Amino acid sequence: MITPNLFYSDLKDSYLFYNIAQKTKAYLSEHPNAHLYRMGIGDVSLPLCESVIKALHEAVDDQAQAATFHGYMPECGAEFLREAIAAYYGNRNVKLSPDEVFVSSGASDELGDILDLFDRENTSLVIEPAYPAYVDANVMGGRKIQHLASGIDNGFLPLPDDIIKADILYICSPNNPTGAVFNREQLKKWVDYANDNGAVILFDAAYEAFIEDDALPHSIFEIEGARTCAIEICSLSKTAGFTGTRLGYTIIPKELERKGMNFNTMWVRNRTTKTNGVSYIIQKGAAAVFTPEGQKQIHNNIRIYKENAACLMKALDELGIWYCGGKNAPYIWMKCPDGMRSWEFFDYLLNEIQVVGTPGEGFGKCGEGYFRFSTFGNPDDTKEAARRLSGLLGKAKKNEV
Ligand code: PLP
Repeated sequence: MITPNLFYSDLKDSYLFYNIAQKTKAYLSEHPNAHLYRMGIGDVSLPLCESVIKALHEAVDDQAQAATFHGYMPECGAEFLREAIAAYYGNRNVKLSPDEVFVSSGASDELGDILDLFDRENTSLVIEPAYPAYVDANVMGGRKIQHLASGIDNGFLPLPDDIIKADILYICSPNNPTGAVFNREQLKKWVDYANDNGAVILFDAAYEAFIEDDALPHSIFEIEGARTCAIEICSLSKTAGFTGTRLGYTIIPKELERKGMNFNTMWVRNRTTKTNGVSYIIQKGAAAVFTPEGQKQIHNNIRIYKENAACLMKALDELGIWYCGGKNAPYIWMKCPDGMRSWEFFDYLLNEIQVVGTPGEGFGKCGEGYFRFSTFGNPDDTKEAARRLSGLLGKAKKNEV
């Protein structure tokens, strides 16, 4: 009889967003006329920008004529898009050759698939609180996981130390859920650690476009030494509203080798076996993101999300509540007031002011006592949520005095 992948039975129930959905559903069935201010899930609310829509329409028309029709696309990505992405990195003085850029249908897909490159005996390091897919993809693959807790003491940006015994190092910066961003000196320490120990960094740069502080690195490849120890995984989901359109990219430098094997070559072999490329139409839409006009338009949208963040941060500043993120990231990570646990705070906000966020405990044990707000929501709703938050927590504070 066939034996299933038994590691699936080691997966913990992914109850975070399910529980949020259940609790909000129950609230709405008891209060059918209530309006909820949803700042929980990290999906975008603004539509694709004009340049992308135009490119998508033109690409559809191309598919209508024999002369411009495209069938299978190159497995690793269309040349026009690989070149556009390499040029985007070039603007930040990161030199990439287009064949170091692999087009994907999203970062989630890649974060799971890329593990094909590594032996099952390797240990993965996950800095927590973390995007839940890192842990789950490794559990499914039967890999050992070392959990590295972070907290207020290190600003949720831990550095490598002697207790780390891992081969695959996940680093997400700007971070989901904390919004914290590693600076150059901090990333250099991780790069040196990886090179000294023969480890490989999987750098998740899904939120790089939200960085506004010029001193902060957008890519691990801005750090000296990264070409021999890192793979970068990126996505247009949040940058350009592609959550439902689907496009990402992965950078694997040609120098990245371990035990005589070259990861760029291995990934070409993997892609040419396991995919038949991303659709021509979507790649055309994606290429429009990297044009000057496209960049201007996506940054107009990002500015709207940043205004949401500013509005929530102002409320938290006035309340004197500790938080990080928001400035260079679309997430705000706050400490729950009065020592509340994260699900307790979730219920409190839902019942008292109809605001929905995400309990920090869902991102790992050390997230207990924290709460994440996403800034991707509707601006009017976010303003009202911030006003309600100020009212509720301000009143609670006054009662304490
Ligand atoms: N990486 C991080 C840190 C994310 O937060 C997300 C989505 O929320 C992803 C990757 C997945 O992105 P994609 O939509 O490209 O699969």
